[in-house]
Amino acid sequence: MPNLALRSQRVVTPEGVRAATILIENGRIAALLPHNADVADATLVDVGNRAILPGVIDPHVHINEPGRTNWEGFDTATRAALAGGLTTLVDMPLNSAPVTTSVANLEIKRAATIGQLHTNVGFWGGVVPGNADEIEPLIAAGVLGFKAFLTHSGIDDFPNATEDDLRRVMPILARHKLPLLVHCELSVEDDAWKQNDHRSYPNYLSSRPKEWEDEAVAMMIRLCEEFRCPVHIVHLSSANSIAPIAAAKARGLPLTVETGQHYLYFNAEDIADGQTQFKCAPPIREKANNDQLWAALQAGIIDFVATDHSPAPPDLKQARKRRFYHGLGRHCLAAAGPTRALDSCPPARRHAPGPGPLAQRKSSSTHRPEP
Ligand SMILES: [Zn+2]
Repeated sequence: MPNLALRSQRVVTPEGVRAATILIENGRIAALLPHNADVADATLVDVGNRAILPGVIDPHVHINEPGRTNWEGFDTATRAALAGGLTTLVDMPLNSAPVTTSVANLEIKRAATIGQLHTNVGFWGGVVPGNADEIEPLIAAGVLGFKAFLTHSGIDDFPNATEDDLRRVMPILARHKLPLLVHCELSVEDDAWKQNDHRSYPNYLSSRPKEWEDEAVAMMIRLCEEFRCPVHIVHLSSANSIAPIAAAKARGLPLTVETGQHYLYFNAEDIADGQTQFKCAPPIREKANNDQLWAALQAGIIDFVATDHSPAPPDLKQARKRRFYHGLGRHCLAAAGPTRALDSCPPARRHAPGPGPLAQRKSSSTHRPEP
């Protein structure tokens, strides 16, 4: 394979953005050279001012195929990801049908990917009540870790786990050093908000208070400490949980945390009534809360941003009736880029997990697009 040299005024490196020439030998990066380096032995491609950056890993994507392919399938999901600079997606165990809670179901999902992948794709397994016996076989079959909900997942075929369910599987995951990803909301049945205006965003926000998240995060820190099982908190929204997370990390617990761009970019104060496209769970909170999320990201307490990309047809988002009560809203439709500079943290950490507890398995567990 002839050597290749890629030159740009804007090469994103772990140390920051700079002009450089990347020398590639045998398909691998061999050296990061000065911009004007002599690379006569290689085929030089100068992309000018266009940025060259590592392919982004998104570990939180719901592709929905098979079963809900009309929401989105592997072909369009991975094609769109590639257009946005993402080269590896890790697919959540829902909202496909069947959900990825057994090896048989994983094989059905894998079969659905054939001929459709434009990026690398890995799979998370699911923890639901009664599938503890499937955990070891799913690990052997190559899943990268497991996802559990602590509140209703939004689809009835993926029921939420109880603490007892987690206690059964966490020793297994600890032994394999694989992460348990948790949707952290411990919900309390309270229908009061449903009596109020279904179009009101403040009413919806009040229906999923920070305390739900904070109590769930506290429980997961406690279980993480007890079992020493890697725990990953997905889409953190409540800034109240930042301090206990920081303290847990300071104690050396194998705990990682992501937030979503929608919690950083949007604020509750700006969401008008009826704008159900902003409905997600946990909800987008107030600016003062979100400023603290930004600070935690910059400080490395929040490890990275993941999209929680999870499309749904407009009718399920109540696009016409604009009522938060009925609209699907486990995840956010919106895709927005962070707008604040994060110069103080390495680019590789802003958008994707480094080789931490969330990304330890060998690449052989990831499916690659056919040439
Ligand atoms: Zn999700």
